[in-house]
Amino acid sequence: MDFKFTEDEEVFRREVRQWLEQEIPQRWIELDPGIWEETEESWGLAREFQRKLGQKGWLAPSYPKEYGGLELSHMKRLILAEELAYSRAPLSIEVEVTVNWVGPSIMLFGTENQKKDCVTGIAKGDTIFCLGYSEPNAGSDLASLQTRAVEVGDEYVINGQKTWCSYGHLADYCWLAARTDPDAPKHKGISIFIVDMKTPGITIRPLINILDCHSFNEVFFDDVRIPKESLVGQKNNGWYQLMMALDFERSSIGYAAANQRVIEGLVKYAKETTRNGEPLANNPLIRNELAQLAVENEVARMMAYRIAWMFSKGLHPSHEASMSMVFLSEVNRHTANAGMQILGHYGELDRDSKWAVMKAGIMRMCLSSLSIGVGGGSNEIQRSIIAIRGLGLPRK
Ligand SMILES: Cc1cc2nc3c(=O)[nH]c(=O)nc-3n(C[C@H](O)[C@H](O)[C@H](O)COP(=O)(O)OP(=O)(O)OC[C@H]3O[C@@H](n4cnc5c(N)ncnc54)[C@H](O)[C@@H]3O)c2cc1C
Repeated sequence: MDFKFTEDEEVFRREVRQWLEQEIPQRWIELDPGIWEETEESWGLAREFQRKLGQKGWLAPSYPKEYGGLELSHMKRLILAEELAYSRAPLSIEVEVTVNWVGPSIMLFGTENQKKDCVTGIAKGDTIFCLGYSEPNAGSDLASLQTRAVEVGDEYVINGQKTWCSYGHLADYCWLAARTDPDAPKHKGISIFIVDMKTPGITIRPLINILDCHSFNEVFFDDVRIPKESLVGQKNNGWYQLMMALDFERSSIGYAAANQRVIEGLVKYAKETTRNGEPLANNPLIRNELAQLAVENEVARMMAYRIAWMFSKGLHPSHEASMSMVFLSEVNRHTANAGMQILGHYGELDRDSKWAVMKAGIMRMCLSSLSIGVGGGSNEIQRSIIAIRGLGLPRK
């Protein structure tokens, strides 16, 4: 087992780092929005940056060349993801959704036209997707979804309601799961569609998240007519396609690098701060906590490396992706909670206070970390997947 990157990969990492130092706009650094905190201004900056990455071929580096990628190895994709996350580059979570979850799913199941239109647009940075999965009565039990798509002539007519649709108000397309056969067993009557978000009959209503930002939406479909060609893959095969797309969703590889940056910030704070005449860095409890975070984050990083390695071998991470997601979400929460203890009452102050430390990032991370073990399937559901697919335990 060789854990070293090759010389060529190290050169690539240096090239990416140098490019990022020049290209991250000063305004983005000033705004420093955390995950789920985009505003209109930061979204604009992120879209601009996304296109720049697209022009360089670094947005979807492992995509085939015919669809706008560079066919770079998955290890180089991992290096890019790590550097983008560590440098807090201007990328919204919807870019991850679009490039790493929806794009690969279209390449697996889509028609040639869908690949040419959507995947190429994704690789260029021109296209953003949102996910239309959850409904008021279908979250963990997603197969209960009730949104209907009925075939009428050359079209499908969609009626129903989606919820928790992240950035649906800003997305170009929705990757929609809808029921096409209400009489089939619930896992067997679902299909996947690509829906233009400007289609008449779509109403979007904002939901404000725990950070007081508009990231979620309710999306209503009232007699929304879409061309038949919007169907992705086979009709009524959507559950299988959804499971593949969700495995991509759980295979995120950059989070440990983002967390590493936070841990380094806490180490710096502990070294530079004195409390009751004693440097925080001398406090054995704080030293212990920081060391524990370093151990956990290293494990999270290795799990992400395993995912990248599996992709590089043409394997499809499934329970391995769930393991990585559970662990990462818990390391993320642990980092935020430990950070709050280390910062003490200063950690509770928001950005508008002159006494706020680390730009109030730890407190905001603490709030957003609550959602990380829920989106994409809660940690209970991930553990259930690990039990069934990983350990071969019975379903019930
Ligand atoms: C930040 C964020 C972004 C999101 N973005 C999107 C999006 O863009 N598009 C989209 O469609 N959805 C999105 N979601 C929704 C997400 O997929 C659901 O919240 C998630 O699947 C859980 O469903 P639920 O909220 O209905 O909770 P429920 O399913 O009602 O679950 C409630 C609790 O019960 C537990 N539970 C439920 N069933 C079981 C079981 N069988 N065994 C053990 N425990 C169980 C769950 O673990 C959870 O703790 C997002 C969610 C978050 C937090």
